[in-house]
Amino acid sequence: MNVTFYGVRGSTPCACDSTRRYGGNTSCVVLNFEGGEPVVFDLGTGLRFFGLDIGCGEPFKGAALVSHLHWDHVQGIPFFAPWLVENSRLDMWAPQQDGIELEDAVRAFICPPYFPIDIDQLPGELRFHEAGTEPFMVGRAEVIAAPVPHIGPTVGYRVTVDGISVAYVSDHQQPGPGSTEVDPAVLELCRDVDLLIHDAQFNDEEFASRPDWGHCTVDYAVEVAAQSGARRLALFHHDPSHSDDQIDELLAQAKKSAAVRGIREVIAAGEGTTVSLSAESTRAEAAASSDTESITLPLTEASTVSIAASSSDLNAR
Ligand SMILES: [Zn+2]
Ligand SMILES: [Zn+2]
Repeated sequence: MNVTFYGVRGSTPCACDSTRRYGGNTSCVVLNFEGGEPVVFDLGTGLRFFGLDIGCGEPFKGAALVSHLHWDHVQGIPFFAPWLVENSRLDMWAPQQDGIELEDAVRAFICPPYFPIDIDQLPGELRFHEAGTEPFMVGRAEVIAAPVPHIGPTVGYRVTVDGISVAYVSDHQQPGPGSTEVDPAVLELCRDVDLLIHDAQFNDEEFASRPDWGHCTVDYAVEVAAQSGARRLALFHHDPSHSDDQIDELLAQAKKSAAVRGIREVIAAGEGTTVSLSAESTRAEAAASSDTESITLPLTEASTVSIAASSSDLNAR
């Protein structure tokens, strides 16, 4: 399974020189695996670049697992180039909304005066599904959704294909400063996953001044990974005010705390990074020693990020 990050920022896009290396687009992560259509976590502004990658040749068929409807998770919808191809289709799952149907909630912001046209004027088709608590299949992928503490209806997802599992918890309210308490449903969702993609919006000082903004610290992301037994952690939903250098520092701090908590690898998600997970590597990892090597992996043209990885089981581009 390949996990590609197209948008890693929280809250709002930030196209600045200081954020160029990790990228300024909002939440969008794509899972690709053999014998199945792509599965997309969230439809933030990174979705536009996924659309450019796949192009407008053949009709697109795929699924989106949307955590919630805050702007940074849905703003890419009308800019997805495959919508312009007849017979393209995206099945979108998202949590049940309060007092409004999911489809009506989405239609309400993709229409004039907020956008020049409404959804029905796009040649492609967007189909809506509410993500309940029962597991469901998206092609060969087994999907579980679970409520995540945030602001408004929000879920996280766990996707398993051929025994490889990825959990996505993009926006997660930490209970309080320094808290180690984790919602049991979130822990269960992330239990022993091969890769956990988790909110890492704040440092401790920022959280202290914004304790009810719906997010958590980098330390809390490590806490969730440690308590759930996640093998790898991708720090995600970076604050738009965080420069690349600040993210480097937060990553270094997370690696230190993760090392003593038994988490094998930590990366800071960056646009253009693909993490490859294979059944062979997962099995090999279970039997492997804890020896890891530090490798430097290219991201976008002008960027690199160091990750500590077993060279055989985690690759990036
Ligand atoms: Zn968000
Ligand atoms: Zn949010």
